[in-house]
Amino acid sequence: MRIKIHRGQDQIGGSIIEISDNQTSIIFDVGLELDNDEQDIPQIEGLFIGEPKYSAVFISHYHADHLGLAQYLLPSIDLFMGEKSFLVNRFVNEYMHKASVPNPSVFTSESTVNVGDISITPLLCDHSAFDSYMFLIKCDGKTVLYTGDYRANGRKSFSALLKRLPEVDVLITEGTTLSREYTQNKKEEDLERLAVENIGNNSPIFFLQAATNIDRIVTAYKASRKSELLFLEDLYMAGITSIIGGSIPNPKTFKYVKVFMTGNSDERYNQLLEYGDKRIGRKEISQNRFAMCVRPSIKNYLNKLSEEISFDSGVLFYSMWSGYKEKKDVMKFLDFMKSKGVKIITLHTSGHADAETIKKLINKTSPKWILPVHTENAAWFKTFNINVLINSDSLNI
Ligand SMILES: [Zn+2]
Ligand SMILES: [Zn+2]
Repeated sequence: MRIKIHRGQDQIGGSIIEISDNQTSIIFDVGLELDNDEQDIPQIEGLFIGEPKYSAVFISHYHADHLGLAQYLLPSIDLFMGEKSFLVNRFVNEYMHKASVPNPSVFTSESTVNVGDISITPLLCDHSAFDSYMFLIKCDGKTVLYTGDYRANGRKSFSALLKRLPEVDVLITEGTTLSREYTQNKKEEDLERLAVENIGNNSPIFFLQAATNIDRIVTAYKASRKSELLFLEDLYMAGITSIIGGSIPNPKTFKYVKVFMTGNSDERYNQLLEYGDKRIGRKEISQNRFAMCVRPSIKNYLNKLSEEISFDSGVLFYSMWSGYKEKKDVMKFLDFMKSKGVKIITLHTSGHADAETIKKLINKTSPKWILPVHTENAAWFKTFNINVLINSDSLNI
């Protein structure tokens, strides 16, 4: 068996990982590099150019640093991903008028897929993207676990996942948080409690967060309902939560969730009509106590809303990675909210495993080899008495 890390070994994001034997070659994740505005498609023979050499590509989750190159695959290569993952990605692309990935074959957690003589079992895991998976791979008599991105501080049980994991020959794991100063991740439940404490009698309440971070939407919703606030999603977020449905707060099936529209195009208005009496206008919003999920691009809308109600005793929960505060549009937006009298409170936790969580995974799977990916601190793994692939991008065992 051969494992080759085409990309993403010494960097966070942009992962492309190959696992192959004499008969079959499979790729796991085809990600774009983060913070790279000029992305050339990597010249990987048989994947993006030339004669197809790979039978299939498996995508762990919908973040662009794992999925972003899927639309450039050679057409005869089968694409596999989770169903909700695909639906969210398709909605996001259609909403933004961007090209979508080709229709994939969908897998479900714990159902093994056989491609040639390699078997792949997806295992649902917790991450800041919904519908994220690890992959347990059997190839050439060996067992490999590729983690994708994961964490133990979300709402899915990490210990239940650990129980399902066998000992493996090779562990390919992310180590995103290892280059940052060590802290134990706060749990989503901690954020919920903190939000309730800080909402108190303040009004209005705003949450600034990624519309695709579904766990965080659940946290914001739960804190809002405990504070008896109406929960407001804009059309974009409402589209995502409605596609996922089930226990995820969305205007179509949740009594206290409503949807608002910020632009004035016919296309958006037609989308809004789909929500029937769950849509809400500025006048009605201003007559309620509410929590609103916001984005920098809806600044003009909020400016108009501030003419209807005072934002003076308002709170905005900043619920994203702190690095985004350096981005121009975010900076401008926060300044704007401050100028309206809104207090900014940070409410965030990582979507990636902390060191304790990675240790637990290593102890449970007791690998013979560790291949760190999605990290800037692969050397951290040397503290275990296990072979670590650091200065080479391929392993033959
Ligand atoms: Zn990632
Ligand atoms: Zn991710």
